[in-house]
Amino acid sequence: MTSSPARPLRVLVLGGTAEANRLAAALADDPRIEAVLSYAGRTENPTPPPIAWRVGGFGGIDGMVDYLRVENIARVVDATHPFAAQISAHAIAACAAAGVPLLALARPPWPRTPGDRWLEVDDLQAAADALGAAPRRVFLGIGRLHLQTFAAHPQHAYLVRLVDPPRAPLPLIDAEVIVARGPFDRAGDRAMLMSYRADIVVARNAGGNSASAKIEAARDLKLPVVMVRRPSIQARQRVETVPEVLRWLGHDETPAERGV
Ligand code: NAP
Repeated sequence: MTSSPARPLRVLVLGGTAEANRLAAALADDPRIEAVLSYAGRTENPTPPPIAWRVGGFGGIDGMVDYLRVENIARVVDATHPFAAQISAHAIAACAAAGVPLLALARPPWPRTPGDRWLEVDDLQAAADALGAAPRRVFLGIGRLHLQTFAAHPQHAYLVRLVDPPRAPLPLIDAEVIVARGPFDRAGDRAMLMSYRADIVVARNAGGNSASAKIEAARDLKLPVVMVRRPSIQARQRVETVPEVLRWLGHDETPAERGV
């Protein structure tokens, strides 16, 4: 009698980040793992990943619990953005309720290095307040959804970099928009800040390589950076690299992944 082959491990990857895309690429074509990449649906036309994918919220914690059960998910990897605190909290609660092991894949925050002129604050409201009363030329590297916070500070001129062209007028009176998708490079961001004559940068401490260019460019130009600290998320098992996730999933690395 021949034994039937083992069922593939069903894995939900919560994505929306470069890390999640890298993990998806590493999981593609492994017959032992059947992974689904989940996008919130914030970005228009996301690049289709090489694994199954879905788009849209689950409907809160209960919705995610239902999804895990209906889809027979055996493991969840939370590879969402470090500032996406709600979905991460939902994943912790839903995985606990459904008895599904959860691992977070999160890049380390950018460290402050000598020469950095950072003012660290806890949230975007504090960042907007920190710009002060006098007019300034501000580079806002924070994404489309959070611009409203700066509308209450119309004395400043803003340079805003967005992934998609804005569909509606921005809530800022004096704003220039650059539409571009990372990764960005240091020399390019230095040129962008100089050409706008920016005198301050507002950023969230996302970490990772794809958006660090603005921080390096600010360092080169000796510009101050109002740096928003990460939101706190309940303790969970967390790793920083794709190979660590693969080991947790029991997936052997290919020679290419090992760099052999
Ligand atoms: P959030 O505030 O933590 O989540 C808000 C709601 O969006 C969640 O409750 C969930 O809806 C839905 N959601 C979020 N991520 C999801 C995912 N990967 N799959 C399915 N539903 C998801 O999230 P956010 O800050 O708006 O970020 C949304 C997405 O953009 C995340 O996937 C994140 O990785 C990515 N992203 C965020 C940032 C950022 O700065 N926050 C930057 C780059 C990329 P339900 O409650 O209905 O399930």
